[in-house]
This record gives sequence, structure tokens and C-alpha cells, in this order.
Amino acid sequence: MSAPRIALSDEARRMAAELTALRREIHAEPELGRRLPRTQRRVLDALDGLPLEIGTGSALSSVTAVLRGARPGPTVLLRADMDALPLTEATGLPYASRVPGVMHACGHDLHVAMLVGAAGLLAARRTEFAGSVVFMFQPDEEGTDGGGASAMLAEGLLDASGGTPVAAYALHVSANRLPFGVFSVRPGTAAAASDGLRVTVHGRGGHGSAPHRAADPIPAVCEMVTALQTFVTRRFDIRDPVVVTVGLIRGGTKRNIIPDEAGFEATVRTFSTEARERMREGVRTLLTGIAAAHGLTVEVDYHDGYPALVNDPAEAALAARAVVDLFGPERCLEPAHPTPGAEDMAFVLERVPGTCLMLGACPPQNDYVTAPQNHSSQAVFDDAVLPDGAALLAQLALRRLGVRDEPVSPA
Ligand SMILES: [Zn+2]
Ligand SMILES: [Zn+2]
Repeated sequence: MSAPRIALSDEARRMAAELTALRREIHAEPELGRRLPRTQRRVLDALDGLPLEIGTGSALSSVTAVLRGARPGPTVLLRADMDALPLTEATGLPYASRVPGVMHACGHDLHVAMLVGAAGLLAARRTEFAGSVVFMFQPDEEGTDGGGASAMLAEGLLDASGGTPVAAYALHVSANRLPFGVFSVRPGTAAAASDGLRVTVHGRGGHGSAPHRAADPIPAVCEMVTALQTFVTRRFDIRDPVVVTVGLIRGGTKRNIIPDEAGFEATVRTFSTEARERMREGVRTLLTGIAAAHGLTVEVDYHDGYPALVNDPAEAALAARAVVDLFGPERCLEPAHPTPGAEDMAFVLERVPGTCLMLGACPPQNDYVTAPQNHSSQAVFDDAVLPDGAALLAQLALRRLGVRDEPVSPA
């Protein structure tokens, strides 16, 4: 077995121009949801020529690529999401989105470029490891059409190499929250479960001047919205937080008409299975009770979204060591709290131990604390992080496959 010629991070740096060009092409032509034909084409073109076994999805534009090492051995999975968000870009960047109403505002364009980079780095080292690496290019992380990771799992993602992966890793860039180039990884729960609540209260419409002859759903909806906040504060342990945000209320057409029905929608974030189950059951009891108290009926549609993202403690520790060894201790943080955001890598991590890391990508000349955050039309992600992101993903796979002799580049 020959030792690698140069450090992984130096080799990744040589790919910077290529990865930046790929990222900017994807950024300029963002796509939404499960069907990302142009993005998929770019991934396939970028992987062309590498010694990979490539498969594409049926229900979605996914790409699954398998790299086999010198000898059979365990499988490690590396994941990038590829989809954009429904908003119009307002960054004014030269490579800004050319598609009105669609923008890579969560940095998934960088994830794709970093994973392509990792595939190149690992392909060059494939004689040095035993086992396989599965590269998962996933549409629809943002849940536009219902969650790309679970769809890829349903299409056999974990059988791609012939052996279930022993570990899975993903990297997510942040436009704020972290200084440029700093990684963060949290053992245990790192992101919330995200569920949806859709409520319709049925009453009996009538004249606004004579509510006693009608059954007005509007006051009941108002009561439900505030009762949900009381429910959160009185029925859940403050050390196991819950967020319920009603982001939409509907009902009525005119001020003197009592409508037949009214309703609202909420997002529900929980961090534990117990809180999630208590919420799912408790919400129904609470809202049915309020409706009944006013002589109304209610339909409660509680939709299970993404589960909480749980990083395996051993895998999170391995990832933190890899960051420290490659880039130094000042570039590795452990966040004190999980994020109330959600991430559908959680579905993969329910089946395979692994970890998701964050990487600060706020341009260093900007203040990362006040910078526009992910999902803002003004979010800016600096592509100078691409080589380090690619190097880290490759390093995680190599370490998990037992390659420990990577030379360390001086920081
Ligand atoms: Zn996002
Ligand atoms: Zn994202």
C-alpha cells in the first residue's frame, strides 16, 4: 500500500477552481423539489470519468454513486442535498439565480460541489482502502414534494454497494451562525423533529349581527392559537423544549359574515420522541375539547414530517477529531444546543449511525452574527469553503474505513 503523495486538504485546494465553477453553475440555475434534471445532469457530468458505479432515481432525480476500494470491506455513505428554495434571490452576486422565484438560499449548491470534490479525492486513493463509499446526491431536502432522503431510502439507497453502510456523514453550510471555515458538530440530538398541524373548525355561518343564531368558528380558532402556547408552557419539560408556531390563519370573507369554517396551520418542533408523541396526542385532545366547548367540531390533521436528527456520539467524536487533525482545534466547535431547524438526513441517521456537521460559509469580510441567514433571499455562501468541505468528507470516509496515515498539512 503506497502512502498518499500529498495531504488531502492540499489536493482539495487544487480542485478549487473546478468546484467553484460547478457550484456557481448550479447556483445560477436552481431547481425545486424532487425533479432536478439540470442539477442531476451537472452531477453526472462532473462525476464522468471517475471509477464509479452510478445509479439514478426513478421517483426523483437522485444520483447514487459507488466507489470500490482495493479490497472488499465496509461501506461508508456521504451525502449532499441538491435542491433550492422558492424565493427570488436578492444578493446581486454575478452568479445569482437566473430563475425568478427560485434560489439556492440554503447552500445545497455548495454541498453538491463538495461531494463531487470528495468523490474525486477518494477515487484517487481507492487503492489505499478496503471497502466502498456511497455518494448520495439527494433532491428535495426542503420538503417541497415530501422529503428526498426517505424516497431514496425507499429506492434502495442502503443496498447500493451490496452492504449496508456502517456510517453516514453529511456537511451543511451556514451563511451566519459560524465564522468562515469553522466546523461544528454536536453529539446526540442536533436538530429538531419538524411536524405540521392543519386545523379546520366547522361551525355554522350567519349574519355578523346575530351570532347567537350561528355557530362562529373564529373565536374558537383564536382560542386554539393561544391555548397551544399555554399547552407548550404547562405540559412540557422546559429542559426538553417544544416550539409551536402558527404561521397561517384562514377564515371569513367579510366583516359582517360569520363563516361556516375557519382554520390555521402550525409548525411543531420537538427534540425527543417523548415530546413528539405527547404533542401529537395532546394537540388532538386540546383542540377537540375547545371546539366541543363552543358547540363546534374540528378536524385535526397532524402530519409527521422529519424526525429529530441524532448524531451518533462515537461518529460525532470521530468527525470532530478529523476536523481538528485536518484544520486545527480553533476550527472545531461543539454547539451547546441543538438547532430548532430540521434536516432530512435524520431519516438516514435513524437507520445508520453517523453525523451531520455544520460549516461556516459567511464571507470572512462580513459579520457572521448579523449576516442574512440560510433561507434569506440575501444569504451569501462563500465558495472558498469548498476545498476544505470536500477534504473533510473524504477524510471522514477514509478514517471510517481504517486509513489513518493521511499526512497533515500545516495550517
Ligand atoms: Zn434549508
Ligand atoms: Zn439545507
